[in-house]
Amino acid sequence: MKASILILGGTTEARQLAAHLAAEGFDCLLSLAGRTKTPAAQPVPVRVGGFGGAEGLADFLRTSGFRLMVDATHPYAARISANAAQAAALSGVPVVAMRRPGWVPQMGDNWQSVDSVTAAVAALGPAPRRVFVALGRNELLPFERAPHHHYLIRSVDPVEPPLAVPQADYFTARGPFVEADERTLLEAQRVEVIVCKNSGGDAAYGKIAAARTLGLPVVMIERPALPDVPAGENVEAVVARVRQVLG
Ligand code: NAP
Repeated sequence: MKASILILGGTTEARQLAAHLAAEGFDCLLSLAGRTKTPAAQPVPVRVGGFGGAEGLADFLRTSGFRLMVDATHPYAARISANAAQAAALSGVPVVAMRRPGWVPQMGDNWQSVDSVTAAVAALGPAPRRVFVALGRNELLPFERAPHHHYLIRSVDPVEPPLAVPQADYFTARGPFVEADERTLLEAQRVEVIVCKNSGGDAAYGKIAAARTLGLPVVMIERPALPDVPAGENVEAVVARVRQVLG
């Protein structure tokens, strides 16, 4: 078994990366925050829960003898990425990040960029609209400030308790979501505007492509700043970096 790697996960790519590295004979442990009640099955051993900040993560790396950490968390999970960079400096265990590029607007896209969920809610405006919300269930509270809209809310786990708004429909689903299905959903639900993050990648792009086809506006919550560490854009690039670092 080759050197041991801690993978900070919670994304489809982290799961794929773990499978690739394990297939190459690397000994991997995948770490999840524990937000999802029924997490997807993983191809390598898993640990769940926070480390207690950058210092806690640095201790974990040192005491468990890891030789490398891969930050394959979601592009909006800014705190754990900052902690990973700091923990690498504290522990001397190098970090490599997976930095999935963001989507870029194409001809026919109608995006309004905002920097937070609160700003996204404000951008919906005073007139009632039918809004498709594709955000995490822990990010929805700001929508209570705009109870005049109708919300269609998709999340991995149920939204409990529901929002204090008079018109909201909820459903659970886990990606990937393809364009044809997203288009059917948006049409059937008479959605007028989408609120989402610029997640990048293919798994969540279906709604963006469907919005373009249907001429729907998208309120796009832009990405947070992330630390500048050695990175690859996809699984293959990160595997190459891992091989470079660990030989
Ligand atoms: P965050 O704000 O950056 O992290 C908050 C805290 O959660 C961290 O300080 C850390 O606690 C713990 N944590 C986060 N990721 C962890 C991991 N992989 N393993 C162990 N502890 C972790 O992150 P978030 O936005 O709440 O996201 C949580 C997880 O969900 C991430 O792993 C991310 O990949 C996944 N995810 C997030 C989004 C999103 O839009 N934010 C979307 C899809 C998936 P300690 O400081 O105690 O170590």
